[in-house]
Amino acid sequence: MANECCSGTTTVLFTCSGAANVGQVANQAAVDLQQEGIGKMLCLAGIGSHNSGMIASGKGADRVVGIDGCTVACTKKALEHAEVPMTDYVVVTGLGFKKQAHDGVVDKEAVEKVKDEIKKCLGPVVASGGT
Ligand code: SF4
Repeated sequence: MANECCSGTTTVLFTCSGAANVGQVANQAAVDLQQEGIGKMLCLAGIGSHNSGMIASGKGADRVVGIDGCTVACTKKALEHAEVPMTDYVVVTGLGFKKQAHDGVVDKEAVEKVKDEIKKCLGPVVASGGT
């Protein structure tokens, strides 16, 4: 179930959580945002496996944020396939970060940039406290 506050606006976060460095940046950005009270993470794997509850949660949210590591766009494609309409979208490589094998260290600068982009997208929602 998506999170909800007094404004009644729900925001869910889907991330590719890919094995590459940029996939791990995408995942960490979603983790951080959720910890900051901005949206609730839902499992993209649940969408990919056609989990009906997960799909319903996505479809029932007011804002559906997708974060992909690269232009292969696994999050975007999985949501499209499940007919979950995405309202906001960020691709890590689109922000100037290069995709490469993950070395175990998540690029904090990249994470912050992704978070900033999503906060910009959600500006009015964040400002109203309705995430
Ligand atoms: S979008 Fe790119 S980084 Fe993310 S899972 Fe797909 S191929 Fe991997």
